[in-house]
Amino acid sequence: MKQMPDILWLEEIRKEDIAAVGGKGASLGEMSAIGLPVPKAFVVTSHAFRRFLVEENLEDVIFNDLEKLDVDDSDALDAASNRAKKAIMGARMPGSITDGIRKAYKKMGGSRLIVAVRSSATAEDLPDASFAGQQETYLNIKGEKNLLEAVQKCWASLYGARAIYYRSKQGFDDRSVNIAVVVQELIHSEKAGVMFTSHPVTGEPLSIIEGSWGLGEAVVSGSVSPDKYVFDNRSEKVVDRLIATKNIEIVSDGENGTKVVDVGEDRRDAPVLSDEEVSRLASFGNIAETHYGVPQDVEWAIVAHDIYILQSRPITTIGSAVSSRDSSSGDSGKIIVQGQGASPGIASGKVVIVRDIKDAGKVKEGDILVTKMTNPDMVPAMRRVAAIVTDEGGMTCHAAIVSRELGTPAVVGTRNATTVLKPGQMITVDGEKGQVFEGAIKTAETRAEAPATAGATTGLITATSVKVNVSIPEAAGRAAATGADGVGLLRIEHLILGLNRTPGWFIANGKEEEFVQELYNGIKIVLDAFYGKPVWVRTLDAPTDEFRNMAGGESEPAEHNPMLGWRGIRRDLQTPEQFRLQVEAFKRLWNQGYDNLGIMFPMVSHPQEFIRARNMMQDWGVDVEKATLGIMIEIPSSVLMIEDFIGAGIKFASFGTNDLIQYTLAIDRNNENVASMYQPKHPAVLALIDSAIRVCRDHGIECSICGQAGSEPPMVKWLVEHGITSVSANIDAIAKIRETVARTEQGIILEAARKA
Ligand code: PEP
Ligand code: MG
Repeated sequence: MKQMPDILWLEEIRKEDIAAVGGKGASLGEMSAIGLPVPKAFVVTSHAFRRFLVEENLEDVIFNDLEKLDVDDSDALDAASNRAKKAIMGARMPGSITDGIRKAYKKMGGSRLIVAVRSSATAEDLPDASFAGQQETYLNIKGEKNLLEAVQKCWASLYGARAIYYRSKQGFDDRSVNIAVVVQELIHSEKAGVMFTSHPVTGEPLSIIEGSWGLGEAVVSGSVSPDKYVFDNRSEKVVDRLIATKNIEIVSDGENGTKVVDVGEDRRDAPVLSDEEVSRLASFGNIAETHYGVPQDVEWAIVAHDIYILQSRPITTIGSAVSSRDSSSGDSGKIIVQGQGASPGIASGKVVIVRDIKDAGKVKEGDILVTKMTNPDMVPAMRRVAAIVTDEGGMTCHAAIVSRELGTPAVVGTRNATTVLKPGQMITVDGEKGQVFEGAIKTAETRAEAPATAGATTGLITATSVKVNVSIPEAAGRAAATGADGVGLLRIEHLILGLNRTPGWFIANGKEEEFVQELYNGIKIVLDAFYGKPVWVRTLDAPTDEFRNMAGGESEPAEHNPMLGWRGIRRDLQTPEQFRLQVEAFKRLWNQGYDNLGIMFPMVSHPQEFIRARNMMQDWGVDVEKATLGIMIEIPSSVLMIEDFIGAGIKFASFGTNDLIQYTLAIDRNNENVASMYQPKHPAVLALIDSAIRVCRDHGIECSICGQAGSEPPMVKWLVEHGITSVSANIDAIAKIRETVARTEQGIILEAARKA
């Protein structure tokens, strides 16, 4: 390591200086260099820490001990961690280092200046984010003695049990991990919060700002419901404002630490930010985003009208970051209904309760559709509304899937929306947090009309393909604009159900050609949007109850449990004419040169079903050797027989986890009473997935996922680590999934390199 000083001022630091000042220090230095108003700070460099270890003869004591440690033995881990921390805290900091810190502290403001002392580990910015945040931060530190002690405590925190454990699991050598310490003027903010410089899901140029009274910890930790402001960076106007009830704030507590106090009544329901402050914050956000080239997650604070930017980092794993900031409903007092946030966005409008399809005609542009559960025949109405709220359903129900594709905010599974909400009542729906508020809390229409680049990922290339799910052709443009590597699932039943006539009706009324043409047109829109990229079209998979309300629905059999009934490939095999018409549409597309079209069969439970379907296609003139035919893995039997499916000639397989979970655990995926037991990461589900991936890999068969679990970063991390070859996610999740895949792949490469 090249010689570096013990102390560096922010102005001397650039983003490349991670080895000297750690990730946090480097980022603050870079921010201050581009003109963001960063509070004054200096960094006690990693060099100072090393010198301390060497001069106090601590290296061998600590590292020899850690080398022998079995980190899976938690008692031994705790004991080793305590010994290392004690060794650090028990040693004397060399005089030249204490002098340097004292001098810098004086220069910054003198002995009464209150500072925040933050660890900045030099491993933090390596690909696995789990390294971040494992070392300590000490807020509200005053006086030289307290400062020196806080620095030493930060050093000791490098050997916290959790930190040692993670380093070992990631293959890091403790000897080569360093720590720097940022000493920064503490801003006693009157108000503070966070900002996303672009919409975290769609990528739209909207600055989304959350703020509350006091120190920013209240917002970051989620202990208050913050106000939310949306600033349109194009029109430079505040387009949405949601003022929350802010019951508590975090403030400095005398000499050391912080405390939680009640907010006075006069400020409780008052807006935290003026329009002018929102606009100034957004302009700093734009500076950061332009400089770094990707949307940023920024922490800010304001005191006496002065804005400070405390942190700026790329938006990552944004879904979880947003929900962790979500607070309890009781905090605001205005939430009248709650459920699962199924499609992000905020919208206000008048309630229209749709009890059956006849009511759907009442729904006007901009209303809020409230219903027990949406049906495919409600899709035309769903296109008109500003938001959707349902009593039933989870993240994979019809309402959730279609809303996400339409870009319409939706809250599902509220249990009681149709009884609590009244026709004509004005409400505001937050489709991210799953909350419904009384009244029109917003000031302007923000329904996400995503631009062409919505959700696009900025040039990340991943070995694992990241594809997108599409259900309605009109979403094809938005889906393609995400930069996805193809379509991993096109659900054609949504296309057909939108016609409002069952396939049986078309056949019974001699309208086969119309049916084929509708299918052909709809699929072609998607193929054109993904020209040259694979598009896997799934054959019809609609349960009988979804057909019931349509023309021809009266002929649908009444089934006790449609989820386990006449759907998927089994229905096509029993009604060959319905299957033939689909194949006719596929054939016309193949004949037009659309070689990117692949066909996927749903709900297969036995290889014979695949063989029969392929033989029928061959009889109807399809070159089945050339065609890309594959299956959904949705039933445990198809995992147990995956080798036989491969023997039968499938070219790919894709996990339909929405069904695989329900059929493995006996949990109806749309039943909110058992929703808490619907666990994508249930060990049995994971064991099935793992085993199918292995067999597919052994045979060189592409193995993918198109269920909702493929839109959830922790699951996708697991899948990539277990060898999945592609994932297909919802439109709104592509950016975060692409990033998760990239991070996971880099982590795997890094780990292999370390072990080599
Ligand atoms: C699945 O089961 O995971 C799937 C993608 O299919 P669907 O949600 O349409 O049943
Ligand atoms: Mg399914």
